[in-house]
Amino acid sequence: MTGNDGLDREKLMEIDTALLELLDSRAAVTGPVEKRVDNAEYYSRLLDEYEGAYDTAFIQALLEGLTDASSKQADAEEPPPLLVSRAHQSADTIVRIGEAEIGRDEPAHIFGPCSVESYSQVAEVASDLKRKGLKMIRGGAFKPRTSPYDFQGLGKEGLEILLEIKKAHDLAVVSEIVAPEHVNLAEAHLDAFQIGARNMQNFELLKAVGRSSKPVILKRGMSATIEEFLYAAEYILAEGNGNVVFCERGIRTYEKSTRNTLDISAVPLLKQASHLPVLVDVTHSTGRKEIMADCAKAALAAGADGIMAEVHPDPPTALSDKAQQMTLEEFDKFHLSII
Ligand code: PEP
Ligand code: MN
Repeated sequence: MTGNDGLDREKLMEIDTALLELLDSRAAVTGPVEKRVDNAEYYSRLLDEYEGAYDTAFIQALLEGLTDASSKQADAEEPPPLLVSRAHQSADTIVRIGEAEIGRDEPAHIFGPCSVESYSQVAEVASDLKRKGLKMIRGGAFKPRTSPYDFQGLGKEGLEILLEIKKAHDLAVVSEIVAPEHVNLAEAHLDAFQIGARNMQNFELLKAVGRSSKPVILKRGMSATIEEFLYAAEYILAEGNGNVVFCERGIRTYEKSTRNTLDISAVPLLKQASHLPVLVDVTHSTGRKEIMADCAKAALAAGADGIMAEVHPDPPTALSDKAQQMTLEEFDKFHLSII
């Protein structure tokens, strides 16, 4: 049938239908191999060529064909679930650090001084932890400090002290490492690596601990979202190390009455999103000894698998975080109130 414009409408419709079918079959072939943008460019060139030559109904149909083809490609490109996610693994991961198991019904806590300062300083805390039946001790050998003039940690000597403590007190030792080369250096000394808040997105460091089989305690960056925290852990799992423990340690907000703002909601959110265990550090989040026990109780009630806190035999002489480390007496009360 010929229209007023002299065009054979039926013939045109036939050709248009064939064109759309061709577009559909092209999209089915290109699938995820050809990038969407290439297809989009291709279709928009076609549209430019045909505009004016064809009626609007056809242009509309062509656009719909483009949308359809794009959505098919988007479906084909759906990535697999993250390794850290519950979608990938529904059962809880239990992370073993020495004799301790993080992620079981019974909470597993990590206490110890902010920094390793001397053998006797760490040993005094270690004896106390052992008496309380605890299985892990922490202490920083490499300290990432805000000021370059502040105590930077004893480094390798600190690691050696921790190894001595491990042998003498039969405790698993946990310490922060701040550079990829520390993985090899510290592997023989430590039972678990800690990645600090300042290094949560140090991707080379994350990959380096990912290539080790030692457990990793990953602290939340001070301005990191939950999503970024999950992706940081994913870096470690993607390299083959599944022994990762999240540690919520407070985030920066406008609130000045605490050192950071403890994000309690991070605990159930992480537990729901991921199969990995979650600790809460009440020292660096609150920075206030008088509320640490209450915050620790809140964290456990929210589902945390354990608490991290700092304790020092003589906080006023501590080389870092003087104001927020508990004395052994304060720690006694704290510990009694959370068990
Ligand atoms: C620490 O635990 O010693 C520490 C420095 O904490 P954060 O990385 O959370 O600041
Ligand atoms: Mn500290």
